[in-house]
Amino acid sequence: MPGQAFLSRRIVTPAGIRPGAILVREEKIIGLVLADQIPPGLEVLDFGNSAILPGLVDSHVHINEPGRTDWEGFETATRAAAAGGYTTLVDMPLNCLPPTATVAALTAKRKAARGKCRVDWRPWGGVVSDNQADIEPLAAAGVPGFKCFLIHPGLDGFTMVTEQQLRAALPHVARTGLPLLVHAELPGPVDEATRHLQTERADWRSYSTYLQSRPEEAELSAIRLLLSLCREYKFRLHIVHLSASQALAELCGAKSAGLPVTVETCPHYLHFCEEEIPDGATLRKCAPPIRSRENREKLWQGLRDGTIDLVATDHSPCPTAMKHLDEGSFQTAWGGIASLSVALPVMWTEASRRGFTLVDLACWMAAVPALLAGCAASKGRIAEGCDADLVIFDPEAEFTVTEDRLYYRYPISPYLGRKLGGVVKATYLRGQLVFGDGAFCGEPKGREISCQ
Ligand SMILES: [Zn+2]
Repeated sequence: MPGQAFLSRRIVTPAGIRPGAILVREEKIIGLVLADQIPPGLEVLDFGNSAILPGLVDSHVHINEPGRTDWEGFETATRAAAAGGYTTLVDMPLNCLPPTATVAALTAKRKAARGKCRVDWRPWGGVVSDNQADIEPLAAAGVPGFKCFLIHPGLDGFTMVTEQQLRAALPHVARTGLPLLVHAELPGPVDEATRHLQTERADWRSYSTYLQSRPEEAELSAIRLLLSLCREYKFRLHIVHLSASQALAELCGAKSAGLPVTVETCPHYLHFCEEEIPDGATLRKCAPPIRSRENREKLWQGLRDGTIDLVATDHSPCPTAMKHLDEGSFQTAWGGIASLSVALPVMWTEASRRGFTLVDLACWMAAVPALLAGCAASKGRIAEGCDADLVIFDPEAEFTVTEDRLYYRYPISPYLGRKLGGVVKATYLRGQLVFGDGAFCGEPKGREISCQ
């Protein structure tokens, strides 16, 4: 098997951007060489001035299958991923039915995924109110970590945990050595704010009503509780989708003190801001909410100084009707933003204007999420020994987001109509073209990753 050489003037490696060729054989990267050192007999694919990025790893995706495949599914989510430059998705244990909180549910998920995936994937396990006894069996069955909610997750089927239930789960989580990903909002401040808004008969078409209903205090108090539990139980803590920049100082302090905590934020918190959200624009509803422009810039600062470790999409699709677009009520609309197919250009548009490079993007959106999801040995980097997951990306090209470029089940998005910088021209999964020039190639070849 002679293999291939992926040639480019801009290969994005962890050590920097360099010209040359990535040598690929039997699904793996076997080396990086200069263009004039390509061994004879290889198939040379010359991408010229287009950049080659590592296939992105999204550690926060709601695929919703089995059980809510009418919202999304392995076929549609992995299609959107391939088009967006993602080659690995890590699926959240909720929104699907049954939730991935038992080994039997994990088995059902694996069965549902078979033959449908255009990119590789892994399943997170769930920590719910009553499954403490399932935590270690789930780890043994191959989940790379767990997810829990400190507040009602907005739909039935996956229960939140109280502090007491979390305390019952944490010794098990700690024994597995795997990370616990937490939706960090406490119900107290949300319930209190919501009660107050109901008494005032606030207008739920107004974004500011929704924002007031999910105050920063909810995130801040949850993060304080989690950091103290992290000190006590010594488990690996990961804060998903941080929105409240007020929490950055304490997170930074905890990290400096050596606590095993990592932090993620999402493209929508780094792109949108409260000041620009019109009334009724429920496509921008998510939880925790998008906050002020000033808050957005502080999140960018958190990425710059390393307090925020990674960027994941929190791709959370739903049928169009659930966004209640006619009524425009932020109270009843589904909270979730789907962005797998556009997250890379959204991030590049915002990051490049703040002086960041493609190396930063590859770190936040591939290498670090792969570490979190326990697959850094094979995913997330252009390096010898890794899978040949490669994205051909034109950073100078621009496009306007249209429905036909979204590829997930319901083509709704708050990014529609936005002009973005950077175009995914092709995506290779383990050396094979899975998406190129707007088309998907061949049968789905994605599989579950089992490496640790
Ligand atoms: Zn989520």
